[in-house]
Amino acid sequence: MMQRPGGSRRAFLALGGLTLLSACAAEQPQVPGPSPSTVPPSSPPAPPPPSPTPTSIPVQRKPRYVVPASSAHPGSKVVALTLDDGPDPSYTPEVLKILHKHHISATFFVIGQSAAAHPGLIRSLVDAGHTVGTHTWSHANLRKLSAAKVRTEIRRAVDTVAATTGRAPSLFRAPYGNWSRTVFQECAAMGQTSIAWDVDPRDWDDASAAHISSEVLDQVGNRSIVLTHDGGGDRSPTVQALRHFVPVLLDSGYKFVGV
Ligand SMILES: [Zn+2]
Repeated sequence: MMQRPGGSRRAFLALGGLTLLSACAAEQPQVPGPSPSTVPPSSPPAPPPPSPTPTSIPVQRKPRYVVPASSAHPGSKVVALTLDDGPDPSYTPEVLKILHKHHISATFFVIGQSAAAHPGLIRSLVDAGHTVGTHTWSHANLRKLSAAKVRTEIRRAVDTVAATTGRAPSLFRAPYGNWSRTVFQECAAMGQTSIAWDVDPRDWDDASAAHISSEVLDQVGNRSIVLTHDGGGDRSPTVQALRHFVPVLLDSGYKFVGV
């Protein structure tokens, strides 16, 4: 069914950060990063990039986990589709075809070293009108790192995307949903806004396409941010699920928006 059962979404929102953190902590426990086949160990370091312009965005206390209210689509339900752990030469182009077919855009949280290995894929995302955010350099668990290493993980990914596209990214997602005060402080210093999700079909957990699709359709509501993956493992089920649930959501009146 399309709508979250009555009241449960309110309950979810009321629980706020607590619910989010417990859900996020489960993201990809068995997927430490991109598969070796997608990121050669000899990946060259990112070339000297243009540094993003520092901004004075406030330090977040929790990531954004739903789409901000907007008057861009009055009377319509809106949903944001996000894809993590790419780019991947096998799956990202397939996802792009689906998005193009349905004339919708999505937000890709890319891993820096994968972006460095596949700059053409990053440019194809931007050329197609999608938004590229970052997801650290090496899919690191940031809670286990020093502030200096957190800074390096975020900075290398941001600089790689900036050098590849000519535009500094401004959206960030922590691997495994593992944000911390240090992560928020470093993100603010680099002008990065942290984006979480409220719909997790667990496509990182060997779920079937049918399961991924039904979970998205069961959990989604107005202003949802949907978490899926276009890298970091076999994403064939995710690609297949997108072919099903994207047109179902469109037929149900949803507009796809940015985060
Ligand atoms: Zn990830």
